[in-house]
Amino acid sequence: MNTALSRRTFLRGAVVGGVGAAAYSWSPIPRARAEVIEERHRAVVVGSGFGGAITAMHLGRAGIRTLVLERGIRWPTGPNAETFPHMLQPDRRMSWLSPAPVMPGTPPVPTEPYTGLIERVPGRGMDILCGAGVGGSSLAYHGMTLQPDAERFAQSVSSAIDYDLLASDHYPRVARMLRVATVPDDILNHERYLTSRRFLERAAAEGHETFRVPMCIDWEFARRELRGEVKPSYTTGDVIYGANNGGKFSVDVTYLAEAERTGFVTVAPLHRVTDIERAPNGTWITHVDRIGTDGTVLERKRLVSDALFLGAGSAGTTRLLVKARAKGLVPDLPDGVGTGWGNNGDRVFAVTGPLVGAGDRQGGPACVGMRDHTDPAGSLMIVNGPVPFPVDVGTTTMIGLGVVKGAGVWHYDAGRDDAVLHWDQAYDRDLTRAIETRIRRIAGPAAVVIDINAVDVNTFHPLGGAPFGSVCDEAGRVHGQRGLYVVDGAKVPGSTGACNPSMTIAALAEYGADRIVRRDLRE
Ligand SMILES: Cc1cc2nc3c(=O)[nH]c(=O)nc-3n(C[C@H](O)[C@H](O)[C@H](O)COP(=O)(O)OP(=O)(O)OC[C@H]3O[C@@H](n4cnc5c(N)ncnc54)[C@H](O)[C@@H]3O)c2cc1C
Repeated sequence: MNTALSRRTFLRGAVVGGVGAAAYSWSPIPRARAEVIEERHRAVVVGSGFGGAITAMHLGRAGIRTLVLERGIRWPTGPNAETFPHMLQPDRRMSWLSPAPVMPGTPPVPTEPYTGLIERVPGRGMDILCGAGVGGSSLAYHGMTLQPDAERFAQSVSSAIDYDLLASDHYPRVARMLRVATVPDDILNHERYLTSRRFLERAAAEGHETFRVPMCIDWEFARRELRGEVKPSYTTGDVIYGANNGGKFSVDVTYLAEAERTGFVTVAPLHRVTDIERAPNGTWITHVDRIGTDGTVLERKRLVSDALFLGAGSAGTTRLLVKARAKGLVPDLPDGVGTGWGNNGDRVFAVTGPLVGAGDRQGGPACVGMRDHTDPAGSLMIVNGPVPFPVDVGTTTMIGLGVVKGAGVWHYDAGRDDAVLHWDQAYDRDLTRAIETRIRRIAGPAAVVIDINAVDVNTFHPLGGAPFGSVCDEAGRVHGQRGLYVVDGAKVPGSTGACNPSMTIAALAEYGADRIVRRDLRE
């Protein structure tokens, strides 16, 4: 625990020369009768997913004392752990402060509210499913780690960023840190991976470019499962709530662990940011509730910092910014706040049929895919996403995504004191049809294909809300707001070039941190 946190004191800082040169006298003063605990920090990061963790690591390496505020808990794992819940055995760990599981596919059995793994953010026209916990959505994500090509990056992410620089420096950094590897032959050839092999064969037969998905997984863990040395998790596709054996290079065990090793970064779990505010002197005030695992507010805090990094994910960061503008907490926020939002075309289909080669124990995570850049609806990609079934019903899932046309907008709802996404389902309709057409061809004429998101409209891939250009520059500096940065998926305007988003969010966080640490925070 951070010294400042445990002492419950206000740390006065003599700010010399602005953000970059802040120097503090560590002189604790006793907490007076204040109901709110006040603390002074040099840098505060909200959220510990890709954007937050990578930024914290760079701040720590630069010797900048940094506090990372994370609303969720830590999820330590290891061989044979039972840290994460199982998809078909609902319990309170699955969902963020909800009376029942929020993920499609999990039986809706009532549970007591808990600071669990997945939050459902209700929107008009689309809900968002995103992670909560130290490590963010990387705790539950499958680990598909894909880099878009130059053309699609420029088209959907940014044409102002030098793609060649990202491709030669920042993307490879991410691949090294996450130890990205594709599924090896011996595992793919195992009987549990029949669905994956069938997918590759069928997609290739339809003339598509197929590939093994780069994954942030040590496949030796899957081998140990197949040898019966540890309980199955990867090899039964039971990973949608996390991989219980470990071996997944999620953000908590990579970037965040590295950040903490610097000695300059403190992570504060169960700290939920409620509002952000700019003080008249230009410093940043972060209003925080320290909560218990049932959501009870145990303490309120008011943290003052010179630099504030928003890494609460597309939904979390956008909600804080839209609220701050609506409530006048941060004057002169750019008009673009709350715009440029998209779902990355993310769509899940249940596929049942003789050609898919399903089973009740389908090896995962999603590790094979196909792509097509020729469809008039836009570039698209489809992967096979194995999930566990109680019995073999001949069903698997296929997940499509692509470059979305049209952008959702977030509006402030005073009754809820929250921002709400407004999404028109026409935005991704053509892309969804194109994905479904491909899936039907891959699955064969006898297959039954059900668009799960037609029934439950949601996405795992929220992007945007504080996009490049209208809200921040390419490094994430919010226009006209010195010391305020967007470091996560909120700055990506809606799609990541027909690839899953995490690798691009991570590469952009690396890119932004290089510039911010060097130019803004150092003398
Ligand atoms: C089930 C699932 C599977 C996925 N699979 C893949 C995949 O295989 N490949 C891929 O590329 N992408 C995948 N994704 C998407 C990917 O995980 C996200 O795009 C990525 O994690 C987003 O990174 P981020 O830094 O923007 O935010 P996040 O990783 O979501 O991190 C945001 C963090 O901020 C915290 N936070 C939010 N609000 C507050 C607040 N008010 N106060 C304090 N903390 C707050 C959250 O708890 C969270 O820890 C998947 C997502 C899900 C949910």
